[in-house]
Amino acid sequence: MFEGGGGAPFRRTRIVATVGPASDRPDVLDALIGAGADVFRISASHDPVDVVRTRVAAVRAAAARTGTEVAVMVDLCGPKLRCIPPAETVELVEGETWRIVSGPARGADHTLGSTVPADAWSRIPAGTVLALGDGALQFEVIASDRDGATCRATASGRLRGRPGLHIPSDLLTMDSPTDEDLDVVAACIDGDVDVDAIAVSFVRTAADVQRVKELAPGRLIVAKIETAVAVGDLDAVIAAADAVMVARGDLGLEFPLSEIPFLQRRIIRAATAAARPVITATQMLESMVSAKVPTRAEAADVANAILDGTSAVMLSGETAIGVDPVAAVRTMAEFAARADRDVVPRTELPLPLTGDSGTARVTHAVSEAAHHVAAQTGAVAVIGLTDSGFTARALSRWRSPLPLIAATRSERTVRQLRFSWGVSAVRVRSADADQVLAELVDSGTLPPDAAVVVVSGVPGARASDTVRVRQTPARG
Ligand code: PEP
Repeated sequence: MFEGGGGAPFRRTRIVATVGPASDRPDVLDALIGAGADVFRISASHDPVDVVRTRVAAVRAAAARTGTEVAVMVDLCGPKLRCIPPAETVELVEGETWRIVSGPARGADHTLGSTVPADAWSRIPAGTVLALGDGALQFEVIASDRDGATCRATASGRLRGRPGLHIPSDLLTMDSPTDEDLDVVAACIDGDVDVDAIAVSFVRTAADVQRVKELAPGRLIVAKIETAVAVGDLDAVIAAADAVMVARGDLGLEFPLSEIPFLQRRIIRAATAAARPVITATQMLESMVSAKVPTRAEAADVANAILDGTSAVMLSGETAIGVDPVAAVRTMAEFAARADRDVVPRTELPLPLTGDSGTARVTHAVSEAAHHVAAQTGAVAVIGLTDSGFTARALSRWRSPLPLIAATRSERTVRQLRFSWGVSAVRVRSADADQVLAELVDSGTLPPDAAVVVVSGVPGARASDTVRVRQTPARG
């Protein structure tokens, strides 16, 4: 009943797998679902929108073939700056002086082009560190003027393609979402191609999240926390979003790497307190981009993120361009299932009061009561009746060891709950608690004649206001 399918260990932490050239074939997508991927992430950073749409459709087709309701999330590029080297590869030598300009480099020696807006340079003081790609190569600004910056390379290495160019977010204001992002949103919610979630990159304020929310009602809007500005206004950004991502890649360019474990813990805690699912992302099993086995450090990183309280762990290059995407998901599933056994209930979390309405408070208070009632009555499961998924997310934040079943009439809600820790979402026909329990016993989701705790409200009232101990019916 409460076991994972196909002999897989039961797992409560969710897995987000990024689709890319290594994984966008039907056989690989089917195998990724079989290995335990809950959410498929399709990044709009590297490919044109028609490729994004094709990949969304490919995941939906795999879900239909395998009979599994997985979620699809498109990840917007945001105002990501890039370096435009004059050739496919460029060698940098530590101590050399380079010039970085806006637009393509026009043939001058030791000059790199970039997508940095021309009016930004005057705000970049001497001493600023400009990081390239994952930060292994960096420049220190010696002087900047109206057209660009003269910089010193602080390490030697090879630049390939068009690497990201990071400028500290407090030095320049760039709008997120961009106009290109808004086109991607429109193309991904048009009926033929319809995603469940949209991740917004380089969010700075709650208003950035709100803009996407208004354009894509009903979709989960995921705020990627990767700028110092957003970290500075964390609770407001989280309150505006439906879910959160600890985007450790760009966050690790904004802050010293020594801060990342502590920021991760802080963001996870704030998101969990607010009942927002939270994804920990980037380099989780990085060595599996090129190897079949992960490192000991990666095993520890996955477990520690789960012990920090993350709802989901994400694979990026491991599944998008890696040598064995299916092995990466299988490894992640094994690590997560083991770590889940040591997760302790989060009874110390405050009730999420900021930014939530009165009806939300009722749902949170009733959800807290449900866990206490379940623990004291020997209930075998907590059942949340939910339309939008809100009640299930309110129940999930407690990280209860009891099975948590979300019963919903909405197919989209079933998929969106694939982001939430510990929630088994089941599509039901009725919103009536007695009938739902009968359906869950008939489908084998719940045992007959067992005590369960049911959290429900008046359908359409947008709040769950009732917690009741019920007996499941005898099998009919
Ligand atoms: C990150 O920066 O960690 C991240 C997930 O964003 P992206 O990979 O889209 O740059």
